[in-house]
Amino acid sequence: MKCWTRRQFGCLAGAACLTALAPRASKAQAKSRVVVIGGGIGGATVAKYLAASAGTIEVTLVEPKSRYTTCFFSSLYLAGIRSFESLTHSYEALAQNYGIKIIHDYAAAIDPAGKTVALKSGDTLSYDRLVLAPGIAFKFGTVEGYDQAATEIMPHAWNGGPQTELLRRQLESMEDGGLFLIAAPPNPFRCPPGPYERASLVAYYFKQFKPKSKILILDAKDSFFEQDLFQDAWTRHYPGMIEWLPGQFTGGVQSVDVKDLSVKTEAETFKPAVVNFIPPQMAGELAQQAGLAGQSGWCPIEPTTFESKLQPGIHIVGDAINSGEMPKSAFLANSQAKICAFAVAAALTGSDRSAPHLFNTCFTFLAADDAVSDAIALAPNGDAIKISEILISEVGEDAELRRQVVQAANGWYTAFTHDVFG
Ligand SMILES: Cc1cc2nc3c(=O)[nH]c(=O)nc-3n(C[C@H](O)[C@H](O)[C@H](O)COP(=O)(O)OP(=O)(O)OC[C@H]3O[C@@H](n4cnc5c(N)ncnc54)[C@H](O)[C@@H]3O)c2cc1C
Repeated sequence: MKCWTRRQFGCLAGAACLTALAPRASKAQAKSRVVVIGGGIGGATVAKYLAASAGTIEVTLVEPKSRYTTCFFSSLYLAGIRSFESLTHSYEALAQNYGIKIIHDYAAAIDPAGKTVALKSGDTLSYDRLVLAPGIAFKFGTVEGYDQAATEIMPHAWNGGPQTELLRRQLESMEDGGLFLIAAPPNPFRCPPGPYERASLVAYYFKQFKPKSKILILDAKDSFFEQDLFQDAWTRHYPGMIEWLPGQFTGGVQSVDVKDLSVKTEAETFKPAVVNFIPPQMAGELAQQAGLAGQSGWCPIEPTTFESKLQPGIHIVGDAINSGEMPKSAFLANSQAKICAFAVAAALTGSDRSAPHLFNTCFTFLAADDAVSDAIALAPNGDAIKISEILISEVGEDAELRRQVVQAANGWYTAFTHDVFG
């Protein structure tokens, strides 16, 4: 039987991790300075868990937005099941309860030798350790015609916020009988079940308000995560409404034209009413610019500390990392952030660092009362983080069980966002 020390047990229970970060340094010592760039799920969690470490670390969080809107559960907003407000979170509790200095600015450049961060406003921040959680950037230019400007006509809605609202407005104003086209990206990308959950929930909306409308998914891939669960749900809930075309049949999207709202594959041109173009992805821009991303476009990290393999003293968490077997999810960004906070505190103050364990639980909605889940346990294994156990819902589960998963998902959202921002 595996035995846990009281410290480890507390960490598994969650909140007690905060006290486990308490350092051995005396109060008279000068505070160490940690700058965290990016106040999304990964960055806000690192900042909170570090700031709670008995006050010997001064934490500054740099994030341009004054409020953060989650992209998880955003397809529920598109379906009219959740309000936009319910997805939006402020930074007030992080500042007030944990003393984190929040700077609403954009980090423009990093100087690893001088240990400084230049902000867009012109200010400079000095740090002892830097943590980066910039999320994703889009590989514009890989599909002809799809650039930053095109996102205003064909939204990706793959970051929460104005893009999600734009897509909702487009869905509301389209005529019944129109085509909604989703271009799904190649691996790896943020939230593997995301494009297919979006198709399911938009179909849920169409079924009520625009029942003659259709959904076409033009995929860059030949298969996708939880495919059997999705295809089963599409047959049960939305017969004849959703068509999925794998990359091997179409060659994927070759080009788009925002002027006449057309999408071209090798053999066909489509003229949808609404296009949700989800581009290929890579680590956030600052990571690229600072030389923290490798050739893959993602940032290689040490699996037990989340320290960059390319730049010592800088840690990276969340979707920006080269995640290997880890899906790019909010749950994992939060899990990685706690391990990273331990590692940074240990490096700065000599506090203990426990062996990392990572978990991912993802809830996926197929309809308002039908959701599935997957649970994954992961641990460092040599140079990478590997899956040790995986449990996924199955086709044919009874409706009551699926309703219970919906309830669990809603409970998870409240508890999880409180853990990050509360
Ligand atoms: C449709 C959809 C559904 C999803 N559903 C789920 C789900 O059910 N469960 C789940 O676990 N995950 C889900 N995800 C994935 C989840 O949202 C991401 O994995 C998570 O947000 C990653 O966190 P992050 O901190 O890496 O990035 P983000 O949360 O995107 O945060 C990055 C932050 O960095 C800031 N930033 C970027 N550059 C700079 C800079 N230079 N200076 C300062 N700040 C900067 C940005 O403003 C942003 O706030 C979903 C995603 C999508 C798109």
